[in-house]
Amino acid sequence: MRELKSSHQLPIGGAVLAQSAEPPHTGGWRVGEKPRVQLDTCVNCLLCWIYCPDSAIKIKDEAFLGFDYDYCKGCGICQEVCPTGAIKMVAEALVLPPLGRIEGESDAG
Ligand code: SF4
Ligand code: SF4
Repeated sequence: MRELKSSHQLPIGGAVLAQSAEPPHTGGWRVGEKPRVQLDTCVNCLLCWIYCPDSAIKIKDEAFLGFDYDYCKGCGICQEVCPTGAIKMVAEALVLPPLGRIEGESDAG
């Protein structure tokens, strides 16, 4: 049996490197609904960030910021895993503040 080559002995083939790969704008897949967050009920557990399949949850310094609608495909998983009900799926046509952040309870749609 022939001995297998190690990876660095193989000829270079097609490779897509992280720094050269443009992430697909999955936000264009949304049909009908998008998430918004009620910030006063967010406890920063970051479960939404862990479970979001499209890296559409934005965080900074380990703090939840909101949604990147260019990549959010509207699957609703973040709403399902949010333990406090801070995330709600709302109609796509609803105009929201940047990142889908609702600051005051009375603003909730
Ligand atoms: S709906 Fe939530 S979990 Fe789904 S892609 Fe958008 S931000 Fe991520
Ligand atoms: S899952 Fe809910 S409570 Fe946790 S960080 Fe996300 S929005 Fe906040």
